[in-house]
Parts: sequence; C-alpha cells; structure tokens
Amino acid sequence: MQPLDSPARPGAILSFDFDGTLYHPAENPPVSPRLFQNLERLRREHGALWGINTGRSIGHVAEGLVDGRFPFAPDWVVAREREVWLPNEKGRWVSHEPYNKQCEANLARFFAEVQDVLDAIRNEVEEHTGATWIEQPGDPAGLVARTEEEMAWIMERVQALTANTPHLGWQRNSIWLRFGHKDYQKGSSLAEVARHFGVATDRVFAIGDSHNDFEMLSPDVAAMFACPANAVPDIRAHVSQGGGHVCLLTHSEGCAEALEHFFGTGA
Ligand SMILES: [Mg+2]
Repeated sequence: MQPLDSPARPGAILSFDFDGTLYHPAENPPVSPRLFQNLERLRREHGALWGINTGRSIGHVAEGLVDGRFPFAPDWVVAREREVWLPNEKGRWVSHEPYNKQCEANLARFFAEVQDVLDAIRNEVEEHTGATWIEQPGDPAGLVARTEEEMAWIMERVQALTANTPHLGWQRNSIWLRFGHKDYQKGSSLAEVARHFGVATDRVFAIGDSHNDFEMLSPDVAAMFACPANAVPDIRAHVSQGGGHVCLLTHSEGCAEALEHFFGTGA
C-alpha cells in the first residue's frame, strides 16, 4: 500500500483518530468511499497530507489499514499517541528520528522518577478491582478495566493519587488507560508532524471521538477540529465549547462531513 503522490508543497495536515472515528468495523464498507474521495480531492486542491493519530501500535495500525480496505496509505502515522512514523519509498513505516528516540528517553527517565506513584496506583487497582495492569515494551504502565464503571472508579483514584505529580498524564480510551508524560500526547505529536512538514496551525485539521483525542482537538495544534456524531459526551461538549464542528454523521461519514465543512466541497 502506497500513499498518494507527494504534493509539490504541503498545504494542510489532516489528523484522524482511528478506532471509532475513521474506522468502524460494523459498517460495510468499514470506511466510507466519500472519505477517500475527499482525501484525494484535498490532496489535489490543497496539497493536504493526511494521517492516523491513534493509541494503536504501528503494527496494529498496518493491520487496521488492511481491515479497513484503505485504497492508499496515510502520509504519516502517530502510534501509541506519541511515536511519529513516516513511509519510505517502498511504503514501509520508518520511525521519525531523533524525535521518537528523544521522546522514549525522556519517558524512561520520567517513569523512573514516578515509580512510587505508579506502584501505589497498581496496588490499589489490584486490591479493589478486577482490572489488569499492563507493563510491556513500549507501554511501561497502563491497565485495562472490565467495565466503564470500573474505569470511572479507577480514574477517581488515579486523580487523587497523582495530585502531587503534575507531569504524570494518562490517555484513556474507554476501558483502556495508558500512563505517560503530560507533554507527550496526540496534540504534541500532531504539532511535531505539522512542524516536520512545515504546515502552520491554521492549516491543521483534527477529528476524534474519545478522551485520548482531547489534546489534538484544540486550537493550539489544529485550527480546524471536529468530532463525529458518535463521540463520547465529554468530547462533544469540548468540541462544541471550543468552536469546533460537531458532526451530524458518525464515524468516517462524519470525517467526510467535517472535511467538507472546513474545506468546502470543491468545484
Ligand atoms: Mg477513538
């Protein structure tokens, strides 16, 4: 799978959350043809570079592109909300350096500093809930709850236990939680992508449906931001209050609607 032909000059950056926004496996086809048509048109008319900004790992993104029957690859990917990946001439994903290595080094140092707090959270979660703690390469600390209710309880405890560690952040997506540094999230990753391609914030678009999309749905990183109609209530309220576009349509149909809202429907 290859990206669309490179534009003479990048003129816009389009950032899409994957699960629940671009991709909804229950729909057939899983991604709307109207979205692909818009991406091709905006490439021609605006030199728009589109990408996926997700909590998935890069391998899991590649699987999703096949499952979603994408006719062309994205121009960039943000995986695990913080790693930037770019395709080489052969269409293989290459880590964006030195940015990614610097990010991992900063995170490793930071996690060593906050180990006591993470241990306290883990102890409480394992004692009082049925949630599973996750600790693996690339994911130094996280958990998966059994239900949204259980996650709501855990979130209250996390907030109390992290009151004195202001830089300890987390990304929540439904029953999944990943701890990290507040300076590394989808918004900071999108800013790095825009910086890399030399595109100003007023030409950056972002759309997402869930809690881990908060930071990229912000005028600081994307002057144009939106959420699909199926977004969680907190995101709908955030987008609406911030002057973004709350779509009438769900998932990838909503993505197409939002692009047409901000960029028009073309000639
Ligand atoms: Mg999502």
